[in-house]
Amino acid sequence: MLTGEPPSPLDVPPGCPFQPRCPVAQDICVTSPPPLSPITSDRQVACHFPGSLISPATSPTAH
Ligand code: SF4
Repeated sequence: MLTGEPPSPLDVPPGCPFQPRCPVAQDICVTSPPPLSPITSDRQVACHFPGSLISPATSPTAH
């Protein structure tokens, strides 16, 4: 369960807008917007550490 509130659209934090609530945020997440990275052949994610957000337990393709 995520804690905290989404940022105000009028005061979006620098870097990744999800970083105040992200459990794996690092220093770069506070200062630099994340680039889009492919995670499958037809999906991309905006994250500096895209592999850390997908685990076999949470992946929609896990069986
Ligand atoms: S780890 Fe990814 S989702 Fe989390 S704050 Fe950093 S860039 Fe954003």
